[in-house]
Amino acid sequence: MRVLVTGGAGFIGSHLCERLLERGHEVLCLDNFFTGRKANVLHLLGDPMFEIIRHDIVNPIFLEADAVYNLACPASPVHYQHNAIKTVKTNVVGTLNMLGLAKRVGARILQASTSEVYGDPAVHPQREDYWGNVNPIGPRSCYDEGKRVAETLMMDYHRQNGVDVRIARIFNTYGPRMLPDDGRVVSNFIVQALRGEPLTVYGDGSQTRSFCYVDDMVEGLIAFMEQEEEIGPLNLGNPEETSMLELARLVIELSGSRSEIAFRPLPQDDPRRRRPDITKARRLIGWEPRTPLEEGLARTIEYFRKTL
Ligand code: NAD
Ligand code: UDP
Repeated sequence: MRVLVTGGAGFIGSHLCERLLERGHEVLCLDNFFTGRKANVLHLLGDPMFEIIRHDIVNPIFLEADAVYNLACPASPVHYQHNAIKTVKTNVVGTLNMLGLAKRVGARILQASTSEVYGDPAVHPQREDYWGNVNPIGPRSCYDEGKRVAETLMMDYHRQNGVDVRIARIFNTYGPRMLPDDGRVVSNFIVQALRGEPLTVYGDGSQTRSFCYVDDMVEGLIAFMEQEEEIGPLNLGNPEETSMLELARLVIELSGSRSEIAFRPLPQDDPRRRRPDITKARRLIGWEPRTPLEEGLARTIEYFRKTL
């Protein structure tokens, strides 16, 4: 199959391209290089089955593909808030363009949605049938509401035009190839620990997230894309929940750092807690994350040690 991966030069996208090539697919990687890097896919460039296209999905593009993974969108709050209007455009106009493409060529399309559609959740852990608690006018809204509209578009193209869609709600994912200046918590803490700088814990650090190692995530995305039974939305994430203070201590311990912890103000609308209920993914695709946090963090620390 020829598979189009938008955002393919980014963190998750580059791992996905790799795995799809290993599975014998031809891969078209499309990226505008806002938060993605050629370096992430440099090792794939010699492969005749791999192709890279510099393109912004906000503009239409006419390509032939059998399947589309729509991952294009900055994922770190620092980056998606840098140009909030562009983030909305990427999620709304960009997703429209990719749905138009999928419709024209009859391709299945998977949307990388997010746990952020649950906002600051009033239900814990989060199940797919929870509608969420999202501020429509805050600094995170460009991303949260953008992704919610992207889900709406997927469902409407499915109902109205019969497009074969998949909606994956991805929870916090980490691993090698995150940007050192990404702003997300795992890369921040690791870079700070390795540089001997204080680890910046926002608020009192009692807020929680559930971190999934990137290899597990990519496996889940492909398994969901390739099954026929269910279009989603489907939660993909690690149900192991950790507070930011625990995470900071773990990173210091695993990296052998002498860094201290420094408390900083909590950003506006920062969700208090987050943990996926993955009952549906277990049943549907027999999937659950296999990499314990300590192991995934150790691998990510090694990656940053080499690249910094
Ligand atoms: P990332 O920022 O590393 O990757 C996003 C990629 O999309 C980058 O290569 C970027 O250059 C590209 N891109 C952005 N806007 C584009 C546009 N308009 N046109 C073309 N390319 C564009 O982020 P990531 O962590 O790899 O996330 C990938 C996807 O998964 C995103 O859609 C994100 O919202 C979603 N997601 C990620 C997480 C996570 O924890 N990593 C959690 C939930 C959802
Ligand atoms: N966070 C932190 N220190 C940092 C960066 C983030 O304490 O240097 C916190 C942030 O406030 C949030 C959690 O870590 O509570 C996860 O933040 P991230 O930006 O990684 O992802 P998201 O909030 O989108 O889940």
